[in-house]
Amino acid sequence: MSAGTPLYDPPLAACPLCGAPAPSPLYRIDRSTPPFSVGRCANCDFIFMNPRFTREVIASFYGPGYYEGNAEYSYYDERAAEKYARYVWERRIGVLRRYAPSGKFLDVGCAFGGLLKCASRHYAPYGIEMSGYSGRYAKALFGDAVHIGTLEDHPFPLGGFSVVTMVEVIEHCPDPAAVLRECRRLLAPGGVLLVQTANMDGLQAAMQGADYAYFMPGHLSYFSKRTLTKALTDAGFSRVIAFHPVEFGLLPKLLKSRSSFRRWTDYRHWLRISLYHLLGKVHAGDFALTSSMVLYAIV
Ligand SMILES: [Zn+2]
Repeated sequence: MSAGTPLYDPPLAACPLCGAPAPSPLYRIDRSTPPFSVGRCANCDFIFMNPRFTREVIASFYGPGYYEGNAEYSYYDERAAEKYARYVWERRIGVLRRYAPSGKFLDVGCAFGGLLKCASRHYAPYGIEMSGYSGRYAKALFGDAVHIGTLEDHPFPLGGFSVVTMVEVIEHCPDPAAVLRECRRLLAPGGVLLVQTANMDGLQAAMQGADYAYFMPGHLSYFSKRTLTKALTDAGFSRVIAFHPVEFGLLPKLLKSRSSFRRWTDYRHWLRISLYHLLGKVHAGDFALTSSMVLYAIV
């Protein structure tokens, strides 16, 4: 981007989830370069970036640096840690199979296709990935079953999928209600949608305020269990099941975390993960101690 290119779109005058007017400012996230602000809807409590970065700025977040961990805002390259990430993926597939044991499986935001490789033992795998960098890798594995693009321009027939997964994806979407409706349309009767994102009603998010690490420049939409459950119901799902912090136990997480260990002192990291996971189990109604959640929505 050249100097002088606008960084932000005009501010949103209405909530992108419920359409209520005049969202109020909540936090300014100054640690990010460029900084950004989030607002909260007084009607439905949905939290969202406002004003948003332009499409061009957002697209610039998802190049190779996003996966190689050297961009300011980055994820990780799952290929380097695949042996360990598989523990989580295998366990996740095991739980999903209780709800939908076979059929077509679509991973929205499939990155390099790691989850799809595990899914392919039981399901016909399909993927959507907006990043050409990781999407081309997944496409080399799965051919035309991987679409480089979004849920707005995919080529897949509606009504035929047993499972749709969105792991840490919905927070990146500018119009999450439209995304959930499209997932609903893609699913067959009895199908299940998995959504993993942060729970902004968790004590962790509430206490850390603007310092909460989930406030990242690529995250446009911030849900709580309440707002996401309502959005799923509004999208046409008949039943929503919430898991805190995730839908499986501690062991796969610990095994996955082994990938980052370089020396014996790194094992302190295991203790932190164990503690976080156990605290994540503490929840009652809308209240939860940590801000991790996974929702399964049934058609
Ligand atoms: Zn709203």
